[in-house]
Amino acid sequence: MRVHDSLIDLVGDTPLVRLRKVTEALGPNAPTVLAKVEYFNPGGSVKDRIALRMVEDAEKSGALKPGGTIVEPTSGNTGIGLAIVAQEKGYRCVFVCPDKVAYDKIAVLRAYGAEVVVCPTTVAPDHPESYYSVSDRLAAEIPGAWKPNQYENRNNPESHYHSTGPEIWKQTEGRITHFVAGIGTGGTISGTGRYLKEVSDGAVRVIGADPEGSVYSGGTGRPYLVEGVGEDIWPGTYDTTICDDIIAVSDKDSFLMTRRLAREEALLVGGSCGMAVEAALRVAAEAGPDDVIVVLLPDGGRGYLAKIFNDEWMSDYGFLSAQTEEPVAGEVL
Ligand code: PMP
Repeated sequence: MRVHDSLIDLVGDTPLVRLRKVTEALGPNAPTVLAKVEYFNPGGSVKDRIALRMVEDAEKSGALKPGGTIVEPTSGNTGIGLAIVAQEKGYRCVFVCPDKVAYDKIAVLRAYGAEVVVCPTTVAPDHPESYYSVSDRLAAEIPGAWKPNQYENRNNPESHYHSTGPEIWKQTEGRITHFVAGIGTGGTISGTGRYLKEVSDGAVRVIGADPEGSVYSGGTGRPYLVEGVGEDIWPGTYDTTICDDIIAVSDKDSFLMTRRLAREEALLVGGSCGMAVEAALRVAAEAGPDDVIVVLLPDGGRGYLAKIFNDEWMSDYGFLSAQTEEPVAGEVL
């Protein structure tokens, strides 16, 4: 029988898909732009990779013992990955999320059996109600608790060094010239980027995509709406030497591209994917016809139906108008 004993056997080995429509405006000499579509992971995002490696390492080191509790501040995707791994291995999960996270994402975590604590987004990271502080307190108070701490855990970038990077190199038969990814914890870009630079003797260029306002592209950490990327702190998982360039993308450009990916490429993906593709197209505009640009798309779009894919929400923020992309809801063509 062709069966898998566990869903966690299906983590990784995600496909590379050529972007054909959103690249049209680049003209006939456009480089190849390939999307690494991470929603094919069993938990629906790139974060399944780090969840698996962080938990397995904690078991080996003894930090996580049988019957223990996983406590983590997460915007959802890491939580789903951890919840899947925890279920398989018999751990309890308590997650702490900022309140800007889409309701659907929190409902998904609860559906997997995890407990979720929601904290305000607008307070400073060292405030006692911030999601960083609350998760620290819970990790200290719950007996047998282990905090993976995706912002400091070296197994976060390591998981990408050992899986995402080698997959991309093999899938492109070593032809990749540019790697573009959003920066949240920085795990994806640091681990994948390090592998690709090592294996290509430094030839692969690594480009970070960042929401306008985030510290990585020189911002103050002011709020933005794209979820899962950008920071107001500098996490230990981000290798500050890895990026050759960092491109700041506005919420509006990120969301309009996210909607185009669904309508034109049939890729129903999240807002950080639109942000990364927008950055990749700016890279492509400067690249040659033989270049191969790989852009990583971290998650699927179902968790954002009430926001990015909702015309009213988009219009309320001024992201949608007759001049920009498409008619607002209800307009007769
Ligand atoms: N996009 C989304 C939707 C995410 O959840 C994350 C993870 N925070 C990222 C992008 C960025 O990935 P990384 O943390 O590896 O930098």
